[in-house]
Amino acid sequence: MPLVRRSVATVLLALLAGCTACDRSTADTPPAFDGTAAMARVKAQMDLGARVPNTPAHVQGGDWIVAQLKPFADTVIVQPFTHVTATGDTLHLRNILARFKPAAAQRVLYLTHWDSRPQAEESKDSAQRKLPTPGANDGASGVALLIGVAEGLKHAPPSVGVDLLFVDGEDWGDFKTDTDVLLGSRYFAEHLPDSAYAPLFGVLFDMIGDADLQIYQEGNSLQQAPDVVARVWAQAKALGHEKLFIPENKWTVTDDHIPLLKKGLHVIDVIDLDYPYHHTREDTIDKVSAASLVAVGQVALALVR
Ligand SMILES: [Zn+2]
Repeated sequence: MPLVRRSVATVLLALLAGCTACDRSTADTPPAFDGTAAMARVKAQMDLGARVPNTPAHVQGGDWIVAQLKPFADTVIVQPFTHVTATGDTLHLRNILARFKPAAAQRVLYLTHWDSRPQAEESKDSAQRKLPTPGANDGASGVALLIGVAEGLKHAPPSVGVDLLFVDGEDWGDFKTDTDVLLGSRYFAEHLPDSAYAPLFGVLFDMIGDADLQIYQEGNSLQQAPDVVARVWAQAKALGHEKLFIPENKWTVTDDHIPLLKKGLHVIDVIDLDYPYHHTREDTIDKVSAASLVAVGQVALALVR
């Protein structure tokens, strides 16, 4: 009998050990992110045409994002605004904010831009440079990512409040002279949801759908919010995505995180700028992959579960 008892104890210990391992593996199990649905959402935007401000495709693109978010989020807020450009044009723009647990004090902010660039100035063929970029990776991929995150949060509610922000007018003007760019993030920074708004951390996702994905740590993010960079790259590693999230600095980028950093919010840029089709007419859906969207979507969901 003592032998049996020991055996039972051994079995119990083994079961307990198994359960502990089980719990650990559950904690590391990637959250469910639907890659097929994400690609369908990239395609839905591409089918509208380039979502360039002041065009019908842009109006339809914004309406489509709101309609996609409504079944998933607790609240969807549209923040309309206008911007007069350096050449005197008035742009009609909208930021879209989908909120989960809107009353929660502890919050995380994710953002992406949803507009397309009116000129593809990096195109090799000069005749193409005055035409808009299709914006599959630069625009549509980030939107598809965050709508997929919204769907994931609907099915498995987050442990903190989550705000998904779709900013407009990121890509209108000239980054070299800082003219008429980052319009939506600038507007949001000056019109936060409330005066005490201070998310625990924030992540901007930009150009994260590249089928050939390598995301290096961005310079401004490392300088101004190194703890957030460490948190995101550690989560990616825990999910086995260390080949996609490379813990080295390669770029320093002017992007939508800058106005928010200036406002004191701890927001980093997760971006793969190593994209040969950036601001060209070749930024099309064949360059985007479900696998990349799934990997980044899993990281985003795991950070708030
Ligand atoms: Zn762009």
